[in-house]
Amino acid sequence: MTETLVVGAGFAGAVCAERLASQGRKVRIIDRRPHIAGNAYDEFDDNGVLIHRYGPHIFHTNAKRIFEYLSRFTHWRFYEHRVLAEVRGKRLPIPINRTTLNGLYGLDLDEAGAAAFFEQVRTPRSPIVSSEDVVLNSVGPELCELFFRGYTRKQWGLDLSQLSAGVAARIPTRTNDDDRYFTDSFQFMPADGFTAMFRNILDHPNITVELGVEFESLDRRAFDRIFYTGPIDGYFGYRLGRLPYRSLRFEHEHLPDTDQAQPVGTVNYPNAHDFTRITEFKHLSGQKVKGTSIVREYPCAEGEPYYPVPRPENEALFRQYKALADAERDVVFVGRLAQYRYYNMDQVVGAALGATE
Ligand code: FAD
Repeated sequence: MTETLVVGAGFAGAVCAERLASQGRKVRIIDRRPHIAGNAYDEFDDNGVLIHRYGPHIFHTNAKRIFEYLSRFTHWRFYEHRVLAEVRGKRLPIPINRTTLNGLYGLDLDEAGAAAFFEQVRTPRSPIVSSEDVVLNSVGPELCELFFRGYTRKQWGLDLSQLSAGVAARIPTRTNDDDRYFTDSFQFMPADGFTAMFRNILDHPNITVELGVEFESLDRRAFDRIFYTGPIDGYFGYRLGRLPYRSLRFEHEHLPDTDQAQPVGTVNYPNAHDFTRITEFKHLSGQKVKGTSIVREYPCAEGEPYYPVPRPENEALFRQYKALADAERDVVFVGRLAQYRYYNMDQVVGAALGATE
């Protein structure tokens, strides 16, 4: 029987491989990295703390079908992520809520008062095109400067006004005290970690996993079909130019004498430091070990492609690559890099399930 090739062993590739294998196909899945799980890779550091090598990954979804599909491969630990932003010397909830307003301004607003506050400070914008429009339209200029503009400049190397509306639209504004970062109906972490879940996804007699292998080094004629989850511009040798990606440098640190470094999983630093945020992994895993491990994220232009940069001109270049991709026979492009989409993990699983139905 001929083999199907899956390029990339992240969420997109692993789910494609599992679905194809379950349909009776023989699958070879490769990754240029020495491990499975793509950017969701986690591992125990030298001190026994489960850390995420490529930055914090928190699973959340509203799609029961996707949660049920992944539940075949893992047990779960209930976890609701919380984030504080350090602003004017205080740590305040983000997304901005009633507690944020009361803490920042020394007020005692109730829900109606918070709604009236937002109404008073917001700058109505129409049409809403950029992320700046989104933020000014909901919270006005001061909260925009304190919580969003500096963070965005660090994260993307761009001003809010240069980013598509969809980026800021991911962060809601609340008049109540809900301080959860996500409000999805399913918020869980894989009980034994993401990598363990991926091991189970790929544990199928029809699947061969090969790590440290470049797609470009293989003879494509050996495969009947290819599911490609790497960068779409890379597949075509960057012939139309490079699609911009934002990268990150991760600074991991273990603090042997500290059992808890911060009160919540992530603290954002919108205006101070070169890093955007610090995450403490024990909040995510619920581990009770001595000492703690944290990661600081420094956004940068060069390096591994992590985030497609959502700007209209990049979308236009992507569409040109997509036209080339549509003309490729027997190749399916799926995942965050292949579809140049700012996808969360659940959306990537959904895309992979759709691509293999
Ligand atoms: P990837 O995980 O990038 O996998 C693609 C794989 O393909 C890589 O392992 C790569 O090595 C391999 N590859 C590429 N090209 C080649 C080639 N030519 N040959 C061989 N192998 C190749 N999502 C959430 O839902 N919640 C979060 O909290 C969250 N946090 C995130 C935090 C950070 C810092 C980042 C960067 C992303 C975060 N995400 C989060 C998004 C999440 O990482 C992605 O949605 C998901 O991992 C994408 O899966 P993928 O398979 O499409 O891509």
